[in-house]
Amino acid sequence: MKYNKELEYYNHLGALIAWNISVNMSPQSLDENERYTITKNIWNNHWCSELLKVYHDPSFGHSSYPWDMTHLRQLYLICRGPRFTSYQLSNILTVLSTLQELYNSEVCISSLHGKCMRMEPNLNRIMENTRDEGKLREAWITWHQTVGTKVKPLYASLVRMLNTGAKQAGYKDMGQCWREETEIGELRQLVTRLYADVKYLYTLLHSFVRHKLEKFYGIRFHQGLIPAHLLGLFFLIGNMWAQKWDSLIDIVFTEPVHSQRFDGKMSESSTSSSSLVNKILPKNATVIDMVKEAENFFVSMGFPTLPNSFWKNSYFQEEAEGKRSDEHATKPEQNQRKANSRNCHGSAANMYGRLSNDERDYRMMMCAQVNDEDLITIQHEVGHIMYFMAYADQPTIFQEGANSAFHESVGDAITYDLRQHQDEPEWIKSLLKTGLAKLPQIGFGLLMDLWRWEVFENPDKVLQWNDVWWEMNEQFLGITKPFPGYNTKDGLDAAGKFHIIDNIPYIRYFLASFLQLQFYESMCKATENWDGNLHTCRIKGSKPAGAVLWNMMEKGTSRRWSEILEEMTGSSQIDSRPLLQYFEPLKLWLEREIRRLNLTVGCE
Ligand SMILES: [Zn+2]
Repeated sequence: MKYNKELEYYNHLGALIAWNISVNMSPQSLDENERYTITKNIWNNHWCSELLKVYHDPSFGHSSYPWDMTHLRQLYLICRGPRFTSYQLSNILTVLSTLQELYNSEVCISSLHGKCMRMEPNLNRIMENTRDEGKLREAWITWHQTVGTKVKPLYASLVRMLNTGAKQAGYKDMGQCWREETEIGELRQLVTRLYADVKYLYTLLHSFVRHKLEKFYGIRFHQGLIPAHLLGLFFLIGNMWAQKWDSLIDIVFTEPVHSQRFDGKMSESSTSSSSLVNKILPKNATVIDMVKEAENFFVSMGFPTLPNSFWKNSYFQEEAEGKRSDEHATKPEQNQRKANSRNCHGSAANMYGRLSNDERDYRMMMCAQVNDEDLITIQHEVGHIMYFMAYADQPTIFQEGANSAFHESVGDAITYDLRQHQDEPEWIKSLLKTGLAKLPQIGFGLLMDLWRWEVFENPDKVLQWNDVWWEMNEQFLGITKPFPGYNTKDGLDAAGKFHIIDNIPYIRYFLASFLQLQFYESMCKATENWDGNLHTCRIKGSKPAGAVLWNMMEKGTSRRWSEILEEMTGSSQIDSRPLLQYFEPLKLWLEREIRRLNLTVGCE
């Protein structure tokens, strides 16, 4: 269909503009982006109305042009989403770029010798390694009060503008529009059920971490709620958002403990950590080596190699420990480009283009250090690129994940193989670290969008938004404000997370937490001689396991996600069972530790 040819052209153009903005943001590139977004919007609205005219024509179905399910699905995908006029869209883009500018502005922290820095990357990186409560608190409050109060009125007008576009397309508000994009009919009920399934496990982890933090800081937390700033401060990547706690492993896992292995034998655990990069990468490995390792993993499972152009066009920058530095740039074709720091944490791009040698154009941008966390991020990003490659032969409109949660799950599913440590004496430490990385993300992923759904439903209750944010933090994460009297009225503490500023829906990450273990389990089932235990399953090198993943991915979004999931896993539902099974040994270990230490479970 002509639409798909034209869409390929627009997607290619849009990807190039986005890439250029990431590499070197300039007023010209922002203007270019505005022109592009408005033109594409007009073009898409035109196609939607034309196709709807045909669809509503009384002779539809009898016409000479036969419509099948594929055409109906294309029509649905073309027409869904909000409707904006060019004027409205232009205003939205202006607000979004001002929000991003504010987010990237510097704040000065007196307890850090008055040093002024931006959230990304400096503040985030420096604070990740700080264990001084006073400094953490001051940095957290300064950033939130300086930036949060400034962005609030702008964010409020963004919410109203987005709601207008949603209403023009027949939705109640923008939240409903986002929910529909997942194609999950009863999304609210599903997320409530999934969260309830993991709540007990999370509460055990929370109680254990709380005890360790209280001991470490010598503070007793009010009502058993952990103050947000102590959970690794500037949670973006690792992080100010209290969404991932694995950087706390040194506080949480302090003493040698007796750990029961899966086989029931007792072993003495040590505090020394065995890092992934030491285990699987050569000495003096670079960021490129990490990307090659991630590629090799997929290739070992029968996936194609990344095209040559990937290595030529991608942007990798190696950071020295504790600072970002251009001196260590490792891009094969050395250049002076400076990537925009906000995008440089890792992103994968489908450029929707064919090069002269008929190769497809996929790219990655990554500023990284050679460490475990960045290795896992790289595996995640390469997962996106493998997905792009798998559905490349679908009509352009179907070149997407089955839904957005699928796209976020592929790379992460693979990392469960990397995280296997069952042969080591400190296996429980490794499982605990995975739990610290994964379990808080679940509640966090939920509250990010529950909060925004509430905001879109109540666009005029701006003064209450921040209170609702903290109520949800207490309810879903057991996390509270940095101190009890912290005045939340004028701020917008959610704005510390870039996805709020950039207006990216987040429920996909919540759903992906469950989906990635469903994917992993179905790949395990395909391997030879699997004993049914997710902890002993290795998928690296298994072509049958690779085929299971590839068959799912190559369908893109050509059919409903539930059908695609059922073909892969046997279930058409997003389900918590594999996740609970994976963390069962951690649950037992936490229960035992909590009994041994006589800890209270949950908050008062
Ligand atoms: Zn991703």
